[in-house]
Amino acid sequence: MSRIAYVNGRYLPRAQAAVSIEDRGFQFADGVYEVCEVRAGHIIDERRHMARLDRSLSELRIARPMLPAALAVVMRETISRNRVRDGIVYVEITRGAARRDFPFPPGIRPSLIVTARSNDLAKLEQVAAEGVAVVTVPDIRWGRVDIKSVALLPNVLAKQAAREQGAREAWLLDEQGRITEGASSNAWIVARDGKVITYPLGQDILPGITRSVVLDVIKAQGLAFEERAFTLEEAYAAREAFITSASQIVIPVVAINGRPVGNGAPGLIAAALRRDFHRHAEVS
Ligand code: PMP
Repeated sequence: MSRIAYVNGRYLPRAQAAVSIEDRGFQFADGVYEVCEVRAGHIIDERRHMARLDRSLSELRIARPMLPAALAVVMRETISRNRVRDGIVYVEITRGAARRDFPFPPGIRPSLIVTARSNDLAKLEQVAAEGVAVVTVPDIRWGRVDIKSVALLPNVLAKQAAREQGAREAWLLDEQGRITEGASSNAWIVARDGKVITYPLGQDILPGITRSVVLDVIKAQGLAFEERAFTLEEAYAAREAFITSASQIVIPVVAINGRPVGNGAPGLIAAALRRDFHRHAEVS
């Protein structure tokens, strides 16, 4: 079955799905996106993802291409036309296409692209059972990474550096030696005293939807937690570490820059948070 993409009003076979060479997403990375988990055919945490999408659009003053209810229909139709049961749905909105000029072109219509694809859940479970390695790289991103923009070049370079060192994720280190987040995930540690720690919300990290749901799980489980920056040294000394994102939920980190975390095996807290996640996530 060929994959189908929604592009500006039409559902097209992927080979025919295209945007203009003058799309500002292509020329300036002038656009935003969202990735939602699809599980058993349902969208997970759609409300929170759509609220974040709305905020990203507002911050960049990009117009909404359609009403939220219509976008919800397009997302479902794209999931269904691609027969996705377990996977992701991807939504990208750019400022639109116009003659190349830096300021916002007047009267421009935003572009909307929606795709969906299946994930191998069994493989992901295996990754979660084994844990993953991360390496650190300098956080060289711009000052508004709370906006989920498609300007992801530093993230691309960070992931490539991780890949070349046999790691699944890169953790981004700020100038104070603190880990802000992963290249495509939020970063967490469980300190020696059992406290779960992750970087606080603000302009330095993406407000992960999985992060917010995991905080709900942490509260429900009665775990001690703190939203504060932690250093690489603290991460080396941590009992556990893990990453969170919509496409992989909670994945234990078992090595940082080649050093084992804790006893080098996935931690119990990460496993418990992964196990309970979908009891706290919204299904729609
Ligand atoms: N941080 C960054 C930089 C990301 O790209 C992502 C995934 N899009 C996340 C965190 C996790 O966010 P979410 O839980 O909403 O997928």
